[in-house]
Amino acid sequence: MQFDFPIFSPVEQINPELFEQKGLKLFIKRDDLIHPLISGNKWRKLKYTLLKAQSLGKNHLVTFGGAYSNHLLATAAAASKFGLKAIGFVRGEAVDNDTLFLCRLHGMRLIFTDREQYRHKELLFEQHFGNDNDAFFVNEGGASIEGAQGCAELVQELPMVYDHLFCACGTGTTAAGILNGLSQHHLSTRLHAVPVLKNGEFIGEEIQKFSNGNQNFNLHADYHFGGYAKTTPELISFVKEFTTATGILIEPVYTGKMLYAIFDLASQDYFAAGTNILAIHTGGIFGLLGMKEKFR
Ligand SMILES: *Cc1c(COP(=O)(O)O)cnc(C)c1O
Repeated sequence: MQFDFPIFSPVEQINPELFEQKGLKLFIKRDDLIHPLISGNKWRKLKYTLLKAQSLGKNHLVTFGGAYSNHLLATAAAASKFGLKAIGFVRGEAVDNDTLFLCRLHGMRLIFTDREQYRHKELLFEQHFGNDNDAFFVNEGGASIEGAQGCAELVQELPMVYDHLFCACGTGTTAAGILNGLSQHHLSTRLHAVPVLKNGEFIGEEIQKFSNGNQNFNLHADYHFGGYAKTTPELISFVKEFTTATGILIEPVYTGKMLYAIFDLASQDYFAAGTNILAIHTGGIFGLLGMKEKFR
């Protein structure tokens, strides 16, 4: 089967009052519209990963994630779309939730793994699938050179040149890919990476791992709101107000923190008047389903 990865991701301008006051233009690239489940950067990250599996004749994806992992769900949905088998090692004791329900619905087999074992992913792969010639290791979060290669293609879709480009970071693969794309196209756009976990300064090194040395980026490590998947009432209000004001659904784990950072920096006059800012909507809105209580 020929794997085909169509992309539908328009850029929209949004006009919050703050940006008009400051003389800034804010745009958002709708990678969330690429696919309802293989959303955003996960689609881009899986493209060359799956093409590599295919070229090696491997039809059995083995991957890893937490119980709310967007990557697990994306891998499950992509596997069924392209006729592959998928196994997900899930961190922690057996639970059920909407994400895992959708993984199973797409035929992914889940193996719950205690936190200590989960840390040794290569070992887990060897133990369970060492003898399976069809098995293909896909790293947690899709973190890989192939993942970055897919994310670099975002740059060639941009309809104009932006001064600033923002994305949320988990592993840093998406940010690295975008940096590579920007330098391939000789663009001076500055990338702003917003880590969603605590002590996110280390992401700078992760980005370097998969990027070709473009240093034109800033890390904004103070917008983690307490850590991965942690929130505050302020962040929750922001997500609600943004969605109400724009009709663009975001969530508090990734895109909410990234957009909060843009609004906060704009209010502090971080951006020179007259500049253009592009936010990448990396998708992941299913994460909202695990956070309904926080919105009560
Ligand atoms: C996985 C994910 C990210 C993180 O991407 P990395 O390449 O791991 O940095 C960002 N946003 C959303 C919505 C995600 O699901």
